[in-house]
Amino acid sequence: MASRDKATNQIEEFKRAQSTPDQMTTGTGCPVGNKTGSKTVGQRGPILLEDFVFTDEMAHFNRERIPERVVHAKGAGAFGYFECTHDVTKYTKLKPFEFIGKKTPLAIRFSTVGGESGSADTARDPRGFAVKFYSEEGNWDLVGNNTTNLLHPRTHSCSQVSFIHKKRNPQTHLKDPDMFWDFISLRPETTHQVSFLFSDRGTPDGYRCMNGYGSHTFKLVNKDNNAVYCKFHWKCDQGIKNLMADQAGELAGSAPDYAMRDLYNAIAEGNYPSWSLKIQVMTYEEAEKFRWNPFDLTKVWPQGEFPLIPVGRMVLNRNPKNYFAEVEQIAFSPAHMIPGVEASPDKMLQGRLFSYSDPHRHRLGSNYLQIPVNCPYNARLRNYQRDGPQCVTDNQGGAPNYFPNSFSGPQDDKQFLEHMDYCKDGQVGRYNTADDDNFTQVGTFFNKVLSQQERERLTENIAGHMKDAQEFIQKRAVGNFAKADPVYGRMIQEKLDVYKKKSQKSRENMAQL
Ligand code: NDP
Repeated sequence: MASRDKATNQIEEFKRAQSTPDQMTTGTGCPVGNKTGSKTVGQRGPILLEDFVFTDEMAHFNRERIPERVVHAKGAGAFGYFECTHDVTKYTKLKPFEFIGKKTPLAIRFSTVGGESGSADTARDPRGFAVKFYSEEGNWDLVGNNTTNLLHPRTHSCSQVSFIHKKRNPQTHLKDPDMFWDFISLRPETTHQVSFLFSDRGTPDGYRCMNGYGSHTFKLVNKDNNAVYCKFHWKCDQGIKNLMADQAGELAGSAPDYAMRDLYNAIAEGNYPSWSLKIQVMTYEEAEKFRWNPFDLTKVWPQGEFPLIPVGRMVLNRNPKNYFAEVEQIAFSPAHMIPGVEASPDKMLQGRLFSYSDPHRHRLGSNYLQIPVNCPYNARLRNYQRDGPQCVTDNQGGAPNYFPNSFSGPQDDKQFLEHMDYCKDGQVGRYNTADDDNFTQVGTFFNKVLSQQERERLTENIAGHMKDAQEFIQKRAVGNFAKADPVYGRMIQEKLDVYKKKSQKSRENMAQL
């Protein structure tokens, strides 16, 4: 017993806290006399329809599952607080950054991206890193990832749909190396993210030992209504730790819930993980002159030019009390913003502003923001939204349900108007920006950031995955990596050639048998 970890021992700890069992009831609160004996005609006869203890249980059981998230289906959650440690009020009026020492409660959900809800935590995949601040001016969701840029092509969000659709083959329902590398190689702007994904950071050692990034470019607005562009970085205080590819593969079989268990145990043991929040700031003038599109999600802002500015620290100190209530039902959306942070023209962000709130209405219902983990409990919610399925509040009582009105219904206030912006490129059209520089930053990453050993592992991981795709696809993909650096392309090709020789040899051996 002594060696059992906190997660394994959870049910035992529940028992310790609950010394005597409660009286069991039906869903209506009616005390139950016999749970296991259904009402039948005699000992061996049929069940009576009047047995509500039975039908109530069965009917609810049949409806237990809600649709899993289309992406980010497997995840772990936790709760804690954000503490502001540095004054950034010259950039933003965000309530959580209001003054040094201010603490704001928050929730977080970490996840893998592509796997289903029962998939392994150690898969090579980006990790979701979504934070919900419960502020006095409403809930702010910073819906990030463990990488600075995203795999999704930047042109528009339909490409995001294509990317997600290729999770599994439509006929075989298997993961398909042709589909993966076909898409990646046809969209060269994915080269940057794929390089991160197949580096050591593509298999982080749990959720506690990785950085998080807001990924997109956002706009910060201060109390004088001056705006700057911004990127968010959560730097892990535990230090970055990654799994080697073979370790990750072994754990996928032996401990598929590895990251979830690690997070739960750390918090349950009082070993609270923390991250330092930093921002990069770019003025409108700098954005005009920047050599890359500052709103292109596939690019980073060099830290030498746009240094990290410290803001505060996030500490996770509470595990969910119930997984379904607080993690499966938590609903993040980049559109959940509050005064002080706004959208930039980042095309992928614009797509996500729609595409995150929409599925929550499908998964959880149109009143998903009333669910306790989603409701803005630190703000006073007053509006003209009423009714709908599963309305579980007082539905704003007798307050007027139309606007404008003469009966003291809630009023808007110009002090909360968004920052007035302008669009320089005024012509409406379908622009494709896929010919932007896709490779310079990848080359810098390969040459300047990675050590020789990391380059070897990166190219081995890519070749090991790409070897099962058809040769014409391999050629096109290698060509993209070579455009970032000829050595990068060559190293992948050499490793692919080794795999090819091996598989030829094994075919010959089989033929001889
Ligand atoms: P810097 O040296 O200032 O930044 C390098 C960055 O690389 C650091 O943020 C570091 O993160 C990160 N890094 C190190 N190893 C890996 C890895 N295996 N996978 C992903 N990121 C890693 O240089 P620049 O800002 O000029 O950027 C140089 C290149 O580094 C970029 O072209 C880009 O490819 C890559 N990069 C840049 C980031 C940025 O925000 N500027 C962030 C991530 C990558 P950490 O400090 O947390 O260790």
